[in-house]
Amino acid sequence: MFVLSSPSGAGKTSLSRKLLERNKNLFLSISYTTRPPRPGEINESDYYFIDDGKFNEMLKRDEFLESAKVFDHYYGTPKSPIIAAIESGKDVLFDIDWQGTQQLMNSLQDDLVKVFVLPPSAKELEKRLLKRNQDTNKTVKDRMSKASNEISHYAEYDYIIVNEDFEDSLVNIESILVAEGLKRSRQLKIQEVINNLLNDL
Ligand code: 5GP
Repeated sequence: MFVLSSPSGAGKTSLSRKLLERNKNLFLSISYTTRPPRPGEINESDYYFIDDGKFNEMLKRDEFLESAKVFDHYYGTPKSPIIAAIESGKDVLFDIDWQGTQQLMNSLQDDLVKVFVLPPSAKELEKRLLKRNQDTNKTVKDRMSKASNEISHYAEYDYIIVNEDFEDSLVNIESILVAEGLKRSRQLKIQEVINNLLNDL
């Protein structure tokens, strides 16, 4: 399970999209949120957009793997699609904040690879947030001021990517994915390969 976190506007969503396009074994966890959709966002593709009542019902029914309040709205990762994806042998990509990452760490520590994406500078972060053109000026200011809180959690992550150049960042994240997948503990069929090798020697 692969977590990507970053301050809003660091480029994490674009990186996730490209990663999914290029890595067919990667399954994106689509979160539920009470945040209203931004222009261009599609229900059930970017998020499941729901109201507070439905969110609370799901919370009560214990249907979230993790959930958190981020910028005045609630966000949660649904359990059942993740379990299904893992059972079918997929890797799962989570685009969640530090609070959700901490919750996943409590239950899934050994199965989690955590990557933090940083913008190269505050100026660049502001530029990207403004360019996104989906948020109001007030939202951009809010997100800038909350970036330092998000960034203060960088040490809880295994890898840090400073997203200066999109292509470089993508290659770096893909390298992490490949290397982590090659770890002995994650190669579930390696014992069979070793046994066959030893038998034939
Ligand atoms: P945005 O509103 O810009 O799409 O997302 C705001 C923040 O919420 C981002 O940092 C994003 O990673 C985080 N987020 C999105 N979905 C979830 C989720 O299901 N759980 C948690 N904890 N954070 C989420």
